[in-house]
Amino acid sequence: MSLTPQSVLLDREEIRGKVAEMARSIEGRHHHPDPLLVVTVLRGAVIFASDLMRELRLPLSVEFVAVESYGTSTRSSGIVNITRDVTEDLDGRHVLLVEDIVDTGLTLRYLQSHLLGKKPASLEVAVLLDKISHRQVDVTVDYTGFVIPDVFVVGYGLDYSGLYRNLPDLMILGEDVS
Ligand code: 5GP
Repeated sequence: MSLTPQSVLLDREEIRGKVAEMARSIEGRHHHPDPLLVVTVLRGAVIFASDLMRELRLPLSVEFVAVESYGTSTRSSGIVNITRDVTEDLDGRHVLLVEDIVDTGLTLRYLQSHLLGKKPASLEVAVLLDKISHRQVDVTVDYTGFVIPDVFVVGYGLDYSGLYRNLPDLMILGEDVS
């Protein structure tokens, strides 16, 4: 039996409203004159980060970091490898790390410590989705969109075997019984 998107967990309108709310919170906490550096985690956070940036009424620039975490296609092993690092100097910059989902917390913890090593003036984290019940390590998340149950989700940037990132709604992956 194959795994395919089965039902909508969060539709595009709910996501749009939440992203706008998150942008207002971020703006409310950034009063420094320097542009914010939005570090987007490839590839899953690309759609969330693009929508969030278009909502933000702040001067900002964008950077990317790509990670690969080993494991099965629906479970991460916690072993994280950076396959593309940021190219800009983060020293003294105000950084917002944008991630699609935090599950065990291992990827985010690794990325936070990696970026903190580059001596930013501040480092905050925005995640769209949080599977808090599945957390293995403590991580600080400054802005959270939705807490979701321990189900595997696709769409709105998130994939299963490289597919479904383009679905506009967030959907639960399940066994295709047809
Ligand atoms: P963590 O290291 O927190 O366990 O996992 C974070 C990474 O696992 C995310 O960046 C994402 O790539 C992947 N991940 C965790 N849960 C899901 C999920 O429900 N759907 C998809 N597509 N990826 C997930």
